[in-house]
Amino acid sequence: MDPKEIIDRLRQITTEEAALIRRAFAFATAAHKGQKRLSGEPYLIHPFHTALYLAEIQADSQTVAAGLLHDTIEDTTTTAEQLEREFGAEIAFLVEGVTKLGRLKYRGGVRHAESLRKLFLAMAEDIRVIMIRLADRLHNVRTLQHLPPEKQKRIALETLEIYAPLANRLGIWRLKGMLEDASFPYVYPNEYKQVVALRKTKGKETIKRLEKIYRALEQALATRQIKNYQIDYRVKYLYSLYVKLLRKEMNIDDIYDISALRVVVETTDECYQVLGIIHGLWRPIPGRLKDYIAIPKPNGYQSIHTSIFTGDGCAVEIQIRTARMQHEAEFGIASHFVYDETAKGRPDRNQTTNRSNWIKELVDWQKNFKTDEKFVGRLTDRLTQEKIFVFTPKGEVVELPIDASPLDFAYAIHSDIGDRAAGAKINQKMSSLGAKLRDDDVVEIIVNKNNHPTAKWLELTKTATAKHHIRNFLAKQQEKIKEKNS
Ligand code: MN
Repeated sequence: MDPKEIIDRLRQITTEEAALIRRAFAFATAAHKGQKRLSGEPYLIHPFHTALYLAEIQADSQTVAAGLLHDTIEDTTTTAEQLEREFGAEIAFLVEGVTKLGRLKYRGGVRHAESLRKLFLAMAEDIRVIMIRLADRLHNVRTLQHLPPEKQKRIALETLEIYAPLANRLGIWRLKGMLEDASFPYVYPNEYKQVVALRKTKGKETIKRLEKIYRALEQALATRQIKNYQIDYRVKYLYSLYVKLLRKEMNIDDIYDISALRVVVETTDECYQVLGIIHGLWRPIPGRLKDYIAIPKPNGYQSIHTSIFTGDGCAVEIQIRTARMQHEAEFGIASHFVYDETAKGRPDRNQTTNRSNWIKELVDWQKNFKTDEKFVGRLTDRLTQEKIFVFTPKGEVVELPIDASPLDFAYAIHSDIGDRAAGAKINQKMSSLGAKLRDDDVVEIIVNKNNHPTAKWLELTKTATAKHHIRNFLAKQQEKIKEKNS
C-alpha cells in the first residue's frame, strides 16, 4: 500500500493536498498498527481502499484524508480532539460524522429503509460524510466472502436497500452500480447466476455489433466539424439489468440498453449535431429519443438518448453528452467539487476548502430536487431543528419532535412499553421520564408491569401518539371505577 496510488487518482492536486494525504496515511498506519481484517490482511487495507474509491470519484482532499482516518475514532484509541489537533476541525468533523452514522443499523422492513435513508441524509449534515460512508461500505461489501453467511446477507441487503439508493440520490451512479453488483449475489444468488448467464451470451453479440457501429460513427464524425470527441461503450451493471428484466418479464430481447454506445463531445451544440449525424446514418426507433439535455432528469442527469435500428434486425442505444455531463453522471455531487459551472467547466478546487461555500452548494443542489419534496422537506426540518433523532440501545432510530421526553420515546416504540414505563436511562445515566431528550441521545426505558399512566403524564409528553395512549388508558380506568361504584 502506497499513498501515491491514492494521490495519482486525483486529477488536480496541489503539493499541500498531496502532503495532507500522506500525513493521513501515516497516521492511519500507526493508529491501526497490529490490527487485522477477518481476511487476515492488515486492517489498513480497509481505510486505504476507502480512500482509493473516494479519489476515484474525485472527492476533495479533505474527504480523501478523512477516508483514510474514518475508522480511527471507532476502532483505535484516537480521539476527535487528537484528529482536530493533527488535521484541523474539518477533517475531525468528517470522521466524527462517519463514526456517528456507523451506529445506524437496518433491521429490515420497507418503512424502516425509507426513514433510514432520510435519516442518513439528515444526520450527515455534510454530504461528504455520506460519500465516505458509501466508499467504506463498498470495500466492506466487496470483501464479504470472509464473513459468516447470515452476516453476508444482512450487510448485502442493507447495501441494496440503504446505501445504493443513497448513492443514486446523490447522483453517484458509478458507486451505485458497484454497490449493487457487489451485493447482488449475496441477496439473490439464483437470479444473479441467471442474469450473469444472460448477459454473457447476449453481451458478446451486442459488443460485436457495437464495434461495427463504433467504426462507422467514428468515420462520420471525423469527416465533419467535430474535433474532440470520445466514443466508448458500456455494458449495463448486472443488478440494474436485473431490475429492468423484472419489468420486462425476464425477456432480454426487450431491453435495448443492455449495452450502449456513448459519444462524449465538448459542447451542447455538438451533441445535437452528432444526433443529426447518427439519425442520418441509421433509422431511429420511433419514441426512443429522449432529450435529457433540454429536460434534465429530476436528479440532474443530462444526456441525449436515442435507439437506432442497426440494419441486422437489432437495436442499439446511443447516448450523447458533453464531457461535463459525463463527469456529473459518473460522480454526481462529487463532481461539483471539480467543475465550477460559472467558469465554463474550468476546474476550481479552491472552492471546496471553504465549508460555507460547500453548504451553499448543497442548498443550491437541494433546489434542483424540488420534485422530491419529502426529501427536501426532511432536510429543511433538520436545518430548522424541528425534529430530533434518538436511538434505542441497539442503534435503532426514533424520530421525535424537539423537547420530547423519554416517555414520548417509550410510546414511539410500543404502547405497552409506554404504559409500563417506570424510569429511563439517557446515555446510560438514570433520568426522569419527563426529561428533555436531545439529538443523538441513546435512550433505554425501564419497564415495570405494575406501573401505569397517570394524568400527570400528559404534561410530560409532547407527541400526539403518547397523549392519545395516555388518555385512552385514563378513560378506561375511569370506566372501571364507575363500574365498581355502580
Ligand atoms: Mn470502515
